[in-house]
Amino acid sequence: MNFVVANPTGLCFGVRRAIGMLEEALGRYGEVYSLGSPIHNPPEVERLVNIGLKIADCVSDVTEGSAAFIRAHGISRAERDDLNSRAGVVVDGTCPFVRIAHERAESLSKEGYRVVVLGDPEHPEVRGILGYINGEYMVISSEEEIGADARYERLGILSQTTQREATFAAAVSRLVLQSGEIKVYNTICRATIERQESIMRMSAAVDGVIVLGGRNSANTRKLVEIAESLGVPTLWIERSDEVDWGWLSGRESIGVAAGGSTPDWLIKDLTGKLKRL
Ligand code: SF4
Repeated sequence: MNFVVANPTGLCFGVRRAIGMLEEALGRYGEVYSLGSPIHNPPEVERLVNIGLKIADCVSDVTEGSAAFIRAHGISRAERDDLNSRAGVVVDGTCPFVRIAHERAESLSKEGYRVVVLGDPEHPEVRGILGYINGEYMVISSEEEIGADARYERLGILSQTTQREATFAAAVSRLVLQSGEIKVYNTICRATIERQESIMRMSAAVDGVIVLGGRNSANTRKLVEIAESLGVPTLWIERSDEVDWGWLSGRESIGVAAGGSTPDWLIKDLTGKLKRL
């Protein structure tokens, strides 16, 4: 049996950077509060909790004077201000690409545009972006949510970083026709798209795919859906000890892909076992 690993796969730049900053802070302060789970991967969260990570649901759960961490998704300006005045030290792991979306939202709002954010209104990244808008805004998940008769004077458009480019383009094309003036910032990050394209390429060349990633990870679920939609038998696991070794028998080539929140050590653990097999 041969196996190949999708390329690129696993941690994106922003999450890798944030987790590196968190590990450094844990080494320095011993105990660090993260606002929300720092990564959608239970084994990695378990590892971080074992070395001092505390998860806070909101700023008031952070012990006064302690060390606090902002995850890659970022937070709103108001939350940041609250956190700065409560924590003794704040380690900011906000992905630089998410920071750009904050800056764009803020500048559009200051310039008087009604801001349109393409994304999931419940996602923490979108809630963070909205926190930089002072005036009017709306959040849409596709162009179908734009009323056919709606007319706008000045619209400023941007996107949650993980949205699909085609969905963004469709929304912009529609809004161009319904607005007097429009300003568009493409704030999509290609990391997610590149991981989806890599599993597509790989799935065509193997007779089974193992997707490694948290069951609470939306981007991992998407990779599973892509592989399944291409008709290749797919196994979704969180860690290598969940592999059904019988499932591998008779397969000549296996592809391995990992969600954007799956750390390297979990990938190495799986590929090490496959190599030994
Ligand atoms: S997907 Fe892109 S924007 Fe989001 S954390 Fe990763 S690198 Fe940053």
